[in-house]
Amino acid sequence: MSVKAEIADILTRLGVNSASYTSGSTKIISPVTGEEIASVADVSAADTSAAIDKAHEAFKVWRNVPAPRRGELVRLLGEELRAAKEDLGRIISIEVGKITSEGLGEIQEMIDICDFATGLSRQLYGLTIATERPGHRMMEQWHPVGVVGVISAFNFPAAVWSWNAALALVCGDTVVWKPSEKTPLISLACAAVFEKAAARFGDAPDGLLTLLIGDRAVGEVLVDHAKVPVISATGSTRMGREVGPRVAARFGRSILELGGNNAGIVCPSADQDMALAAIAFGAMGTAGQRCTSQRRTFVHDSIYDQFVPRLKAAYKSVTVGSPLTTDALVGPLIDTRASDAMERALEQAKVLGGTITGGEKIDAGYPNAHYRRPAIVEMPVHEGIVCEETFAPVLYVMRYIDLDDAIEKQNAVGAGLSSTIFTLDMREAEQFLSVAGSDCGIANVNIGTSGAEIGGAFGGEKETGGGRESGSDAWKAYMRRATNTINYSRELPLAQGVSFDIA
Ligand code: NAD
Repeated sequence: MSVKAEIADILTRLGVNSASYTSGSTKIISPVTGEEIASVADVSAADTSAAIDKAHEAFKVWRNVPAPRRGELVRLLGEELRAAKEDLGRIISIEVGKITSEGLGEIQEMIDICDFATGLSRQLYGLTIATERPGHRMMEQWHPVGVVGVISAFNFPAAVWSWNAALALVCGDTVVWKPSEKTPLISLACAAVFEKAAARFGDAPDGLLTLLIGDRAVGEVLVDHAKVPVISATGSTRMGREVGPRVAARFGRSILELGGNNAGIVCPSADQDMALAAIAFGAMGTAGQRCTSQRRTFVHDSIYDQFVPRLKAAYKSVTVGSPLTTDALVGPLIDTRASDAMERALEQAKVLGGTITGGEKIDAGYPNAHYRRPAIVEMPVHEGIVCEETFAPVLYVMRYIDLDDAIEKQNAVGAGLSSTIFTLDMREAEQFLSVAGSDCGIANVNIGTSGAEIGGAFGGEKETGGGRESGSDAWKAYMRRATNTINYSRELPLAQGVSFDIA
């Protein structure tokens, strides 16, 4: 069966109307084979606006549904995702090029966040706060905020939506989703799965979840719309630089999840086998197309000549090929631009004195697809292209002597998403996690930079945008906080001892 026929088969099984992926002027190309697998139509600006109005009306109904009941819808969504896991994972492999276990892993992450959000629906706690006035009570309440606009990137085309949607829905918000223009098929599939959960739920208002397929023009309507109080935007730092100020200009709230340039430090005491395995997955997994992919590694001078040759050998031996027909560990890059960006990065690194292992194009049997061997680049300097995110499997490796210096270099880039240290020395580990350590939103010890669990808040600092999604108390960004003071006394004492006696 051709990839095009297979995707149609899966989408039909999931209940997606064939007209939504066979008629339209935007052609969808599978990065695995380079062939056209579908075509979709972009939604117009007017229809986008109308959909937001409808989502706003749905919000007025949904906010009154008790939160644990809202949680029931998300629980059902989790059940439907479990049932559709194989199909959804396969779509991700076809549309994004992820290897089978990573495609399935992305759906598992969605199931996990549904479980988390279902429990959360009974835990949207506010505080009771001691008041300075007798006969008074002060408390905080968390209320639904409104329509949450979700703009997502191509590389986690389904999970990013679910991290936002599962939380937003239990918080009493409605969701308008603009997926990446490169991945409309998995979003159509997710919307169909959601519809099944909503049908089982029974009385969900129309407009709880709206899918808007289109390019950045559709995203811009969402970003500027007064009835969308929260924009959660995942993508490049370039995108965040445009979206952040526009949302701020109308006093909206943005949750920005942007680029990363993640580093690891390998210390003299490191368990080198463990570090090797973690770096191999962190840097080569998903063909280097994770926001948390490891892009820089600092190796202590005393173990460099032992560790780096082993890493290079791993790079030479990794299998690159179709995730659909082989068990290769590294699939294709998403498109020509990504492949060209990798080529340019390697050229720039060479000019700076880098020594490259790998990086060459691989003939995987598909002339229109873009397969490359992951590249490891030994760098004499930490500057230029090393300090930028290239969304491809390029790992820069540098020697260090002094840990303070390595941490300073690790932090000396624009992005601040993920980081790790490999050490068995407790002082080094604690220094890395301390106020003077990593400045990233994620700082790990003895595990890789990528593959975060949903239980923790996910996101990063600086040019990564500062947003947090997923676990911990990230839900608070999807609600509005009201501080309430109730006077049950017969007096009217003013705070701070102020007196204002009227005759
Ligand atoms: P991208 O910035 O090209 O596009 C992301 C999304 O933003 C797409 O839906 C796109 O249509 C939309 N968009 C772009 N410009 C816009 C604008 N001006 N207004 C409104 N919407 C706009 O990113 P990509 O290539 O799809 O994804 C790769 C990037 O995403 C990498 O930089 C990666 O690090 C980052 N990423 C970050 C996280 C995170 O959680 N921090 C997660 C995944 C990906």
